[in-house]
Amino acid sequence: MRITGYKSHGVSAAVALVNAVTSVSGDASVDALRRILRDNEFIWQEFEARDAEAFRHWGRTLRPFFEAATVEEAMALLNELMLEIPMHPHLADHEPHGLHMHYAPPSSRLPHRFRATTLMNLAELVVEHGLGRTGVCAAGGCDRVYADTSRSGRRRFCSETCANRTNVAAFRARRRP
Ligand SMILES: [Zn+2]
Ligand SMILES: [Zn+2]
Repeated sequence: MRITGYKSHGVSAAVALVNAVTSVSGDASVDALRRILRDNEFIWQEFEARDAEAFRHWGRTLRPFFEAATVEEAMALLNELMLEIPMHPHLADHEPHGLHMHYAPPSSRLPHRFRATTLMNLAELVVEHGLGRTGVCAAGGCDRVYADTSRSGRRRFCSETCANRTNVAAFRARRRP
């Protein structure tokens, strides 16, 4: 299974949304939400300002997944949500993705499709990697979440900035007499 690329674009979209809505430095404005959809190749043109609260609510709903301490906890949360969100798997073939799966009913609006896609892509990630690829940033004072879709899968930070800051601090601590 590919975990990078369009087949899992819901994973990076979920991370961006959770950080926008729940982190101290997050921006959950209408413009920021629209940017998240565009950056993650959702059909952002369908986004309407009245949908903003639905997206914010979904970001808060997904946060505990990234904070889950055990696979069982993550499974319970995802399973509960998969029962709540009506799914209707079907094949679609459109630009820029080519042939791929849709999970929400074809007639559903963007917030619902976003919920279904992010949920299923996170579930696929757990099936493949357990909790080894997701979490809360390991940098002190940072509350942002991350998902690692790289091949090596060793990421523990939300960003290069946090990784560098932590490494520099550790280096200084070692040099201190
Ligand atoms: Zn599609
Ligand atoms: Zn961070």
